[in-house]
Amino acid sequence: MSEYDVDLFVIGGGSGGVRAARIAAGHGAKVMIAEEYRLGGTCVIRGCVPKKLYVYAGRFKDDFDDAAGFGWTLPEKPTFDWKKLVAAKEREITRLSGLYRQGLERAGVAIVETRAEVTGPHSVRLKANGRVVKAKYILVAPGASPSHEPAIPGLEHAISSNELFDLPTFPARLLIVGGGYIAVEFASAFARLGARVEQAMRADNVLRGFDADMRAGVRDALAHAGVQFHFGALPTRIEKTAFGLHVEMSTGEPLVVDQVMIATGRLPHTRGLGLETAGVALDGAGAVKVDAWSRTTAPSIYAVGDVTNRLNLTPVAIREGHAFADTVFGGKDVRVDHDNVATAVFTTPELGTVGLTEEQAREKFNVVDIYSANFRPMKATLSGSADRTLMKIVVDGETDRVLGVHILGHEAGEMAQLLGIAVKLGARKADFDATMAVHPTAAEELVTMRTRTVRHERGK
Ligand code: NDP
Repeated sequence: MSEYDVDLFVIGGGSGGVRAARIAAGHGAKVMIAEEYRLGGTCVIRGCVPKKLYVYAGRFKDDFDDAAGFGWTLPEKPTFDWKKLVAAKEREITRLSGLYRQGLERAGVAIVETRAEVTGPHSVRLKANGRVVKAKYILVAPGASPSHEPAIPGLEHAISSNELFDLPTFPARLLIVGGGYIAVEFASAFARLGARVEQAMRADNVLRGFDADMRAGVRDALAHAGVQFHFGALPTRIEKTAFGLHVEMSTGEPLVVDQVMIATGRLPHTRGLGLETAGVALDGAGAVKVDAWSRTTAPSIYAVGDVTNRLNLTPVAIREGHAFADTVFGGKDVRVDHDNVATAVFTTPELGTVGLTEEQAREKFNVVDIYSANFRPMKATLSGSADRTLMKIVVDGETDRVLGVHILGHEAGEMAQLLGIAVKLGARKADFDATMAVHPTAAEELVTMRTRTVRHERGK
């Protein structure tokens, strides 16, 4: 008889954990997975999926505004019912969570709905009943949770994106703190749904780390949608009053809002997991340290997804979970390539990006050629909207290889996905040029940009 109850115990039923559990079971492993909240994890329950549904909801505002230019007369001012959206979202994520469960059950994975904590290199304790499960391998995949920064008096009155999805009443006056992915996506969606959105951040622009021109484009698009920015400013105190939340800002300016949403990053969910008892090392940010195979400093324990703070994106967690299962239980040697991962920020318009920004390329390469376009999308001609589409191709001027592509425009996320293939294949600018355009589309601009906007030569 085996000294272990299971071959694999997975902590966390999110994207990475569920994929790893299913694939390991498919390789013949006896697998148990623990989830303390709802199967599906951040992405399905309170991240990518409900966020995108709310983004779609907000975009109807643009469609209603655009319709008149195409001959439509809307019968009356369209109204929006927050409770209906929340309920519809809930139905959809419940359906998806059910599919996650079905997938696990079909694969023969045992599901335990409780928190689980590591008690040693091969053991895990289930919080619900105190049972200790012995496992040959443990996979730590509990994700990350919102950080509570800045730590200010009255922070308990603020919420994170987790709570914003399910507020009983629509936040007509909303202060969003932060300038990252979550902050801009919610600012864009909620401004369209009718909220008066204020956005405060310590930096002087949104989306640090993205291409500078795209950052400026996102900022302008948000401002155009009505978002009031407070750059270089953060709340210093929140007080609950009869009229709403009274927020003191570092600039001295007072704000009164219905909700304050903090979106100042997410922290790896390692606290209280017992990882230290098994010799699992964490980095300074509390993330689990792993090697290229997602193995921690304890040989029987692996970790995937946001808890490792490598590239905190759902498809990356899924790929890491799959690679782990194939490597440990499938007899293969699979490492995840974290380079040139395409990503999108779901503001309106969207920001789709893959590869190096202009700034990053200039640091790494001697000669960097930039091709760019800034144009009014066709739909905006009749609608009269102020929409612009920005595109930028970053090219190694010595080899002609495309190092990065950045798009701010409708469906830029969809474009980024396909461009990801080209960049991953090592496409050259000449390959883009040799590709026939699809007309009339916005994406055709990517293969018709012939004139270099600027060449940066190191030292010049
Ligand atoms: P981000 O890391 O994207 O942004 C964090 C923001 O908070 C930045 O503006 C940062 O400012 C600010 N900040 C950080 N620490 C502090 C502090 N102590 N005080 C004040 N401000 C602070 O985090 P998010 O929470 O927006 O998102 C978390 C992650 O989730 C993302 O990094 C991404 O990986 C993932 N995600 C992906 C999405 C997608 O793929 N579409 C959507 C949503 C999330 P500064 O710029 O000055 O550092």
